Amino acid sequence: MSRIEELLVTRGMYDTIDISIDDLDEMEKYLSQSEYTGNSIDCFCPKCGANRIFEFVDCKPRINNGVVTVNIADSFGKPSKKPSKEKRYKSLLNSRYVLTYCCTYNREHNAFFDLLVTDSGVMKIGQYPSVADFLRPKTKKYSSILSEQYLKELNTAIYLAAHGVGIGSFVYLRRIIEMLVHETYKGANKNGEVSEDDFFYIKYADSDGIEKARYRKFDEKIELLKDYLPSTLVEKKQIYGIVSKGVHELTEEICMEYYHVISSGVFLILDQKLKIEEEAKLKREIDKGINKIMQFENAQKGNL
Ligand SMILES: [Zn+2]
Repeated sequence: MSRIEELLVTRGMYDTIDISIDDLDEMEKYLSQSEYTGNSIDCFCPKCGANRIFEFVDCKPRINNGVVTVNIADSFGKPSKKPSKEKRYKSLLNSRYVLTYCCTYNREHNAFFDLLVTDSGVMKIGQYPSVADFLRPKTKKYSSILSEQYLKELNTAIYLAAHGVGIGSFVYLRRIIEMLVHETYKGANKNGEVSEDDFFYIKYADSDGIEKARYRKFDEKIELLKDYLPSTLVEKKQIYGIVSKGVHELTEEICMEYYHVISSGVFLILDQKLKIEEEAKLKREIDKGINKIMQFENAQKGNL
C-alpha cells in the first residue's frame, strides 16, 4: 500500500505524511486531475459489506494552482514541452484536493477524501465513509479472542483516533493490552503454571536478609508471562509504556502522532494472539483424534 493510499484508508483525521520531490510519481497518481488507470484504493465498502477496489472518479484542486499540465503546447506551432520535475512537483503544492472514488462492484457507492497539500506534507482534513467504517471489518476477526465489550472498545479506540482524539484512543488500547495480560495470567494460573503470588508480587531480601515482597509492575508481569503472551507484546513492552504515558503525560497531538505505530503494534499483538489460540485449538483437536485412534488400536490389539 502506497503512503497516500495508507493516509486515505487507514489514517485518522488531521494525520499528515511528509512529502518531497521523490514522492512526485505517487502524488501525480493520486492528485492529478487527469484520469489515471492505476489510481485505485483497496478498502472496505460499508454498503457492500465487503472489501472492494475503489476506482478514482475525479479530483478537484480547490486553489487555482493545482492542475498538472503535461504535453501542452507552450504556444501555437511549438512542440509540446513537458514541465520539469521540479515544476510539476511545485504545481501540486499548496492546494486543497477533493478526491472521489467509486466502488467497482456498484459505482453508486462512493468514497470522498479531502486533502490539504502544503510545502512539506499531505494532511487529511475530511473523508466519508469514516476511517472507523473502513476498519471495522479488520476488528471483526478478533471476536474469538476479544469479548463483545473489548471488541467495542477496540472499535472506539479506532473511532476516537479517526476523529483526532488521541489520548482517549490510548485509554482503550491500554485496556485491551491489560485485558490480554490478565486473561493470559488466568489461563496459566488455572493450569498451575503461574501462582497468584508470583503474578502480583516480587519477593526480595532486604539488607538484613529479611524476605520482603513488593507489587509486581505491569512490564514485569509481561516478562513473567513471556512464554504465553504474543511475542510482540513481550519484545515491544514499550507499547504499553507509551499508551500509559499517553494517558498521563502526552499531549493530544503527540498521541495522534504516535497512534499509527502504536495501533499497528496492538493489531500485530492481536493477530499473534489469534494465531496462538488457533494453534491451541488445532492441537486440542489433534490430541483428541490421536487419543481416539490409540483407543481403537488398543482395542484391536485386545481382540487379537
Ligand atoms: Zn460497494
